[in-house]
Amino acid sequence: MISVEQALEKVLSYVEVLEEEENPILDCLGQVLAEDVYSGIHVPPLDNAAMDGYAVRTEDTHGANQQSPRFLQVIDTVPAGSISKHTLKPGTAIRIMTGAPVPGGADSVVPFEYTDETQRKEPYDKIGILCKVETGWNIRRAGEDIAKGSLVLSKGTVIRPSEVGVLASLGHSRVKVIRRPVIAILATGDELVDVEQPLPPGKIYNSNTYSVAALVKRYGGIPRLLGIALDSEDSLVAKLNQGQDADMLLTTGGVSAGDYDLVKDVLAKRGEITFWTVQMKPGKPLAFGRIKGSSKAGAARYVPHLGLPGNPVSSMVTFELFVRPAILKMMGKKDLAKPVINAVIEDSIVNKDGRRIFARVIVEKRGGQHFARLTGPQGSGILTSMTLANGLVIIPSDKAKVEVGDIVQVMMLDWSDEA
Ligand code: AMP
Ligand code: MG
Repeated sequence: MISVEQALEKVLSYVEVLEEEENPILDCLGQVLAEDVYSGIHVPPLDNAAMDGYAVRTEDTHGANQQSPRFLQVIDTVPAGSISKHTLKPGTAIRIMTGAPVPGGADSVVPFEYTDETQRKEPYDKIGILCKVETGWNIRRAGEDIAKGSLVLSKGTVIRPSEVGVLASLGHSRVKVIRRPVIAILATGDELVDVEQPLPPGKIYNSNTYSVAALVKRYGGIPRLLGIALDSEDSLVAKLNQGQDADMLLTTGGVSAGDYDLVKDVLAKRGEITFWTVQMKPGKPLAFGRIKGSSKAGAARYVPHLGLPGNPVSSMVTFELFVRPAILKMMGKKDLAKPVINAVIEDSIVNKDGRRIFARVIVEKRGGQHFARLTGPQGSGILTSMTLANGLVIIPSDKAKVEVGDIVQVMMLDWSDEA
């Protein structure tokens, strides 16, 4: 039995960063930039008003105050999106809206609050300025956010909503990113029925395909559902063949020591097994290796294959530990680990079999301290424990027991500020 770290190292050594592709910017959320992005324009393109008010010549406001306004002739109004044809001459002002380009001759914008705007009377040809203003007041300078020619986003940046916005502000509709891995998912088991079907006696619904596919999506991959294979070598091989051109193949079930656990046999016959069984609970039976297939061009090609355990909790937990980092690596990401925090445990946990335990917990923050309590029964068939949990408490293999009040490490599955 190998350790979680050794298993992860093996899995990661079988996957590489994938090729680049060009996508519409909105499709790139969560992907990694494959090119440096420079700006072809100034953002904003022109000096513009930061407030609704009056564009003025600063010197025309000298000596102005509440008691003795300086009156200026209003010669134009300029809304955002338009450019005034006028240039300010001494004694004139242009009414201007936020975002509108500052007219020639103006060197500051006086907000409405510092004018007699509300007392103005028809025919609106004069405005009283009620204070002396400073040069550059309320003017956003051309290029103050992004200067033309500058490096804005570097290769390797993970694209979040703010990066999507910056790309849009530069007028980039598409960008080069590392492509998303295609992860083929096959459930195995004679007892399984798809969610579309009625449930005959003795059968159960196939939930693993859906929880695992949802995890693939959540972490940025593209799930390809191969359906359900029966517990026979022929059925397994036929289904596995449909996943040959994926970047990774996942099966669930059939990796224990039972009569019908054929996944590792097929893996051994059709490729090679790198490891089987990891020192963890849940998730001890976990087969990893590569399956020989052929590329579209007909050349031999090995696809990394992780045989996840069949128990619904085990398949999700082993996914988080081994598949998630592999997906992130293939996508070009550097930070592959989930956040781990310290928390005070509120239940005692006994570790009988010398494996590392990942128990489902609910983490809460109270008085500046994190507390973790078990979700309830920890059987690896109790999938609802995963719906209750926001973290997995990690009990080391050499720790026989943790007591209430001990400080423990928790791998956070869902992180929110409230946790
Ligand atoms: P196995 O490792 O194939 O013996 O499966 C272990 C347990 O997980 C058995 O109780 C299976 O019925 C259950 N199981 C296996 N595959 C699935 C699946 N796709 N959805 C729900 N439960 C499953
Ligand atoms: Mg089975």
